[in-house]
Amino acid sequence: MPRIHPTAEVSPEAQIGEGTSIWNQAQVREGAIIGRNCILSKDVYVDYGVRIGDNVKVQNGASIYHGVTLEDGVFVGPHVCFTNDKYPRAVNPDGSLKGGGDWQVSETRVKKGAALGAQSVVLPGITIGEWAMVAAGAVVTRDVPAYGLVVGHPARLRGFVCPCGARLARAGEGDGIVGALCPACGTRIDIPAVDWARASRLSRRGARNAAEV
Ligand SMILES: [Zn+2]
Repeated sequence: MPRIHPTAEVSPEAQIGEGTSIWNQAQVREGAIIGRNCILSKDVYVDYGVRIGDNVKVQNGASIYHGVTLEDGVFVGPHVCFTNDKYPRAVNPDGSLKGGGDWQVSETRVKKGAALGAQSVVLPGITIGEWAMVAAGAVVTRDVPAYGLVVGHPARLRGFVCPCGARLARAGEGDGIVGALCPACGTRIDIPAVDWARASRLSRRGARNAAEV
């Protein structure tokens, strides 16, 4: 059985997996499908039709809106905000209030094992790759590659991380792939060379800017 705090509001039309905990004042709307062994902390909002896999942790006050899918093992930090309308307006040009069908949802997917830092914002229609890491406060405006570490506003690719969380180091290159090695746990991961180069270029520019300050 899932554990649902008496103050949480969970729609009878939501599906909640075995072993999942839903804490104080969280709200889960109709049609949401939540997997097993998840933790939805205090004040979390899960919109209608949202899909959440197994072993997902969502921290206090995060808002997960319609069109978002979180795969297995995703971490969503406190007060993370997803979005789903690229051009939001409350009203039509004539001033009349927009209805439920007057806007277009963009699908957002956070893949297996990825982590979103506290108060990060994810713009509509984004895919965040497996085991990627979004720094606290980042504003994600474009897709993040698997294992990618993105930082800032707008979020820029700064490097790559191991599933254990440590930064990956370059160990070799061939056939368009950079062989990366985790100095903490020894895991080897292949990263597309084009992505690795993009991260290195941005990191160098960041270092130069820091030196100028
Ligand atoms: Zn590692």
